[in-house]
Amino acid sequence: MHRRGASAAVSHRSAILGSVPTTTTASPAPLLAGDALVARLRGTPGERPLVDPGLAGGLRDWLEDELSGAVAGLPEEAGPVRISKEAVNGVLVCEAQLVAARAGRPGPTVQLARGSMVDALFRQWVTVGRIDDPVADALEALEVQGDPDGIVAFVGGLAGEERRALAAEVADHTERIRSAWPVLPASWLARTQERMVVPLAGGRVVLSGVVDLALGAPSGGRASVCVVEVKSGRRRVEHRADLHLYALLETLRSGAPPFRVATFYTAGGELDVEPVGRDALLGALHRVVAGTLRLVRLAAGAAPVPTPNPLCGWCPALAGCDPGLARVAETAGAPADGALACR
Ligand code: SF4
Repeated sequence: MHRRGASAAVSHRSAILGSVPTTTTASPAPLLAGDALVARLRGTPGERPLVDPGLAGGLRDWLEDELSGAVAGLPEEAGPVRISKEAVNGVLVCEAQLVAARAGRPGPTVQLARGSMVDALFRQWVTVGRIDDPVADALEALEVQGDPDGIVAFVGGLAGEERRALAAEVADHTERIRSAWPVLPASWLARTQERMVVPLAGGRVVLSGVVDLALGAPSGGRASVCVVEVKSGRRRVEHRADLHLYALLETLRSGAPPFRVATFYTAGGELDVEPVGRDALLGALHRVVAGTLRLVRLAAGAAPVPTPNPLCGWCPALAGCDPGLARVAETAGAPADGALACR
């Protein structure tokens, strides 16, 4: 099992802390389209920073130092602890809520169907450059991909008015995609649904993520990849943290951080873009460590700890959770600002 001395760990950390530029504030969300949108994502060669060749190894060593001791307590027969953005977000909000949500996975909803269909249409637009009938194309694409969430059957079972409303919504989102995104030149190596997997701690922890779109060739000395997430819902505070996690994954996987990360909102056509700096990568690393330590503890059989929070009112475990009920009672009639925005 991988384990290093404290001085080596401190050395990695000192090197990393001074190795990449600090992230500046996220850009506002101007409505961009065509070449302007792509230019915002790709920048110019001169804007792309040189890659510190020791950065990825230092981050990996840092993670190994933090996690290798924690997995020693896992039973031998336990499978790998899988770390995704959903798992990190969920376990850091409330362990008990995550465990309850995993035990009773809800069925498809109109929102989930819309999101899955818009994702499928975005992939089609980027790869084929054509969408004929948004609903039919999306459902066909989902069916081909195996449709693990049961969206095709769900949409097929909607009543006429619900189905028409969903179709109108999907058509609106499709129009945002069509009007904003040009056909991407082959030289930009657009990859949709790119899976990134990083095993750690001898394979007992597996970090993974699937990005909606990656643009640009792997680094040849300068950071050059841009990672894009597509969201059909409204802005949520965790979207930036999700992108930072993907930036960390890409850094660990490829040896170079992405140049920029971005979220495209199909409801309004906004594009949020930010460069990837030291604070983004370190923030993601700290969240991954904190979340993984909790997930490893749960995987080892520890009882999940309830942490009352603004989402208690929507939690599937609320009825049996005294701290959550107390929180809801305290805040009855006055939901905290941002509670809904976080959903
Ligand atoms: S009700 Fe609140 S404290 Fe209880 S499990 Fe759910 S989110 Fe956690």
